[in-house]
Amino acid sequence: MKSRAFVAAGLAALATAPLRSRRALAATASADVNAVGLEGAQLTLKGADIDDLRAGLRGELIAPGQAGYDEARRLWNPAFDRHPALIARCLGAADVKRAVSFAAAHGLLTAVRGGGHSFSGQSGCDGGLVVDLSPMRTVEVDPTTRRARVGGGALLAHLDREAQGFGLATPAGVVADTGVAGLTLGGGIGRLGRKFGLSCDNLVGAEVVTADGRWLKVSATDDADLLWGLRGGAGNFGVVTEFVFALHEVGPQYGGTLSFPYDAGARGVLRNYADFLAGAPDELYVGLDVDSDDKGQRLIELDVSYNGPAKDAERAIAPLRKLGKPHEDSLAVASYTKLQGSDNAPGHAHHGIYLRGGFVNGMTAEFIDTVVGCLDGTQLATVDLGFQSIGGAIGRVKPHDTAFWNRAATCSMHVLGAWKPDADHDTIERNKEWARSTWTKLEPLMHGRYVNYASGEDHDGRMSAAYGENYSRLAALKKQYDPKNQFRLNANIKPA
Ligand SMILES: Cc1cc2nc3c(=O)[nH]c(=O)nc-3n(C[C@H](O)[C@H](O)[C@H](O)COP(=O)(O)OP(=O)(O)OC[C@H]3O[C@@H](n4cnc5c(N)ncnc54)[C@H](O)[C@@H]3O)c2cc1C
Repeated sequence: MKSRAFVAAGLAALATAPLRSRRALAATASADVNAVGLEGAQLTLKGADIDDLRAGLRGELIAPGQAGYDEARRLWNPAFDRHPALIARCLGAADVKRAVSFAAAHGLLTAVRGGGHSFSGQSGCDGGLVVDLSPMRTVEVDPTTRRARVGGGALLAHLDREAQGFGLATPAGVVADTGVAGLTLGGGIGRLGRKFGLSCDNLVGAEVVTADGRWLKVSATDDADLLWGLRGGAGNFGVVTEFVFALHEVGPQYGGTLSFPYDAGARGVLRNYADFLAGAPDELYVGLDVDSDDKGQRLIELDVSYNGPAKDAERAIAPLRKLGKPHEDSLAVASYTKLQGSDNAPGHAHHGIYLRGGFVNGMTAEFIDTVVGCLDGTQLATVDLGFQSIGGAIGRVKPHDTAFWNRAATCSMHVLGAWKPDADHDTIERNKEWARSTWTKLEPLMHGRYVNYASGEDHDGRMSAAYGENYSRLAALKKQYDPKNQFRLNANIKPA
């Protein structure tokens, strides 16, 4: 057996090992790195400055050619293959402060990564610095105050699972590997929304690093204007290192998939879906997607969840079961985490995706005819057109009370084209073109854009279509907190 002194020496050696390897890294001075500035100009980052930044970070600083670079730069949507000059994998708010201050001092293009799950690929960049919060995934739930403190890089699965451990939840999106940060900052539509509001409506506080490197603790009493902006104003005002959410009691749900063959009458199903939603209780969420199964059969799939007792759910859902002869009916009692898919490990998309989306305020006959015309007009099996029910508690918040504007909408809507990673150029373009042209036909019949359902193409200009009368207040806030538009890779609001 080893002596006590030997064990102590061994532990001491282990404890200092990271410091030694850090010194060894510092001893091998970094080379200069070519980079891109805020306005697109070419820059050279000096090796000595890079080494200073690296020495100050608790997390890693990864440059091209270093181990882990390809994994660290990878985004959820394989449509985007970005090559940043540097990736700062932040372990805490101090790392974020250092990384943001470095970017600001060098006028460096800056991307901020939460879950890395955006359709628009804007949490990565070519030639800039990625402030990567994905190592910051801590979730702390206080069941006595019903609050959750959530790290800026956490995914919905982390939040859902920790909160459900206490029988609690806060509204989130419907896919577990989405990032809490981007989802909340843009709004956050999901299963509990009609009952408890958007994710951003449940944001009661945050810790933020602003473009000038300041750290702010934001609440309804401190920097309340900034909290207003974080509730839907996207990542425009700073890097959120921690979110504080209100939690609600959430028990077993009743839900699953109810699907119908598209050919059995899409117009009728859409009409009845819209009419049904108009009178649905707040407990009920129904998403509708038109897509194709593995055999290429086009289906109308309803993603149903009822937040309440099964017998009430069955009564409320009965009209949906009469929409036609179901292809699948898996509706049953299920845990919230099961419906959310939070029990599965997070992953990456298996397809590249191009997506556009916004809001619908009731479906007119012309709108339904246009939707069906666009679907009938293509044979592509990799396109999808979908809706998520909103309204209820979301619609009871006044449009000026948060940055999120479109409170009167009954549904969100998205159109997307997808392709396998090895698809040829023509296939990619056919899918993108279907989504683009469908969006062009539908947008005039809709009621604004949703910043979380964006391609990146729609981020420049026309942001008023997302923010309505709130846009000028957001532009003034942007001028106050980010006058140089350091945080521009987002649904960008230009400083007033
Ligand atoms: C499969 C899928 C399903 C989805 N389902 C829903 C849904 O049900 N409901 C819904 O509302 N949305 C949904 N979304 C959209 C989702 O809300 C957005 O894609 C969101 O931007 C993802 O957030 P993220 O942190 O993962 O993204 P990221 O790509 O990391 O970031 C998105 C944007 O937010 C900024 N950002 C990220 N983290 C921070 C931070 N900590 N501080 C400041 N800015 C930050 C980034 O700079 C970027 O501009 C879905 C997306 C996908 C891909």
